[in-house]
Amino acid sequence: MKVSEIQKAKKRTLSFEIFPPKKDSELKNIDETLSILCDLNPDFISVTFGAGGSINSNNTIEVAKKIKYKYNVEPVVHLTCLHYDKDEIDSFAKVLREEGIENILALRGDRNNNIAEKNVFKYSTDLVNYLENKYDFCVLGACYPEVHPESGSKVNDVIHLKEKVDAGVEMLLSQLFFDNEIFYRFRDNCRIAGINVPVIPGIMPVINASQIKRMVSLCHASFPEKFKKIVERYESNKRALFDAGMSYALSQIIDLLVSDTSGIHLYTMNNPVVARRICDGIKNIV
Ligand code: FAD
Repeated sequence: MKVSEIQKAKKRTLSFEIFPPKKDSELKNIDETLSILCDLNPDFISVTFGAGGSINSNNTIEVAKKIKYKYNVEPVVHLTCLHYDKDEIDSFAKVLREEGIENILALRGDRNNNIAEKNVFKYSTDLVNYLENKYDFCVLGACYPEVHPESGSKVNDVIHLKEKVDAGVEMLLSQLFFDNEIFYRFRDNCRIAGINVPVIPGIMPVINASQIKRMVSLCHASFPEKFKKIVERYESNKRALFDAGMSYALSQIIDLLVSDTSGIHLYTMNNPVVARRICDGIKNIV
């Protein structure tokens, strides 16, 4: 099923992001994680894509198949395009079609000096256009409440996001953020620009100090004072920081839910304990 149909029917979705194991030998271990995650009844699970190598040799599709056929949850497969040509994208799309997988998160991917760019798809919008003209997938796109680092300005970023949506993106999944006010301003700017598809906020519950620092620098996320205080106080107390990180994410999520967001996309980092705790914390919240 297309996740845009689920979104239309439910108005608000709960979804998870997971990453596939790098080695085939680790593929069977993902079942333990998936069975707990799928028990939490997400509306869909998105599976990241390691850009670079041969397009069908990473485990994204294998994990997506498990999600769909073993656990009866809709998968969304991530697909980056910077390092691939049309034939490679076609071969990936063909496998998805054969496997009955209907949802793609169309991404450009990060630049990597060690991997040659094919210069066929320069931006995710080029991939969206290509998929829309040739196939019948539900195509999702990424968005950045704190502005994508290469875009130069907020205005450029939203202009290009509008082009991506006009090309056929039906839902947007956001980069993680720790300050909801930034997300609300971004959502308002999207509406002003005429972007009317659901914008789903991405939340990552952070549970250790090094992970928080890595995320802030990797994703260019603002680190609010009140969160900084928590991390500084409990940096050396693992269990306290776990509790505090969970509470912080839950308070973000509850605030988003009462502010009429179209759903929550949880970056689980393949940690089912985290996902379960978050779901328990919102089980009575509608
Ligand atoms: P684009 O939409 O192409 O935007 C990239 C930059 O180009 C932006 O600054 C944009 O403003 C600008 N731009 C767009 N169009 C134009 C134009 N016509 N002219 C000039 N500038 C333009 N990476 C992975 O490798 N694998 C994953 O599985 C993965 N999953 C992700 C999931 C989510 C929800 C998010 C938010 C990111 C994910 N990423 C993943 C990271 C992503 O690949 C990077 O952030 C990448 O740098 C940008 O990808 P994009 O699709 O947003 O790019």
